[in-house]
Amino acid sequence: MAFEKTGPVDIVGFVSCGGCPGKRAVARAQLMVDRGAEVIFLASCISRGNPIGFPCPHFEMIKNAIIKKIGPDITLIDWTH
Ligand code: SF4
Repeated sequence: MAFEKTGPVDIVGFVSCGGCPGKRAVARAQLMVDRGAEVIFLASCISRGNPIGFPCPHFEMIKNAIIKKIGPDITLIDWTH
């Protein structure tokens, strides 16, 4: 689904947000970039609430903070499936 945009990938990291209100999300996204990530995905459980229809209430804040931290050279895709 969302990975159709990238083609085949090597996954360099798979992390949680660190707990409300996403207190480790920015640092962990940056860590993945430091380890070679060219794209950061935010899973659809955060942005869309899949599969139970309950999206993260801090989604926009987390997304914007990550974009600000990782800069324009890294793509952020805010859904997965
Ligand atoms: S609600 Fe959002 S900030 Fe809180 S734990 Fe879930 S994903 Fe993280």
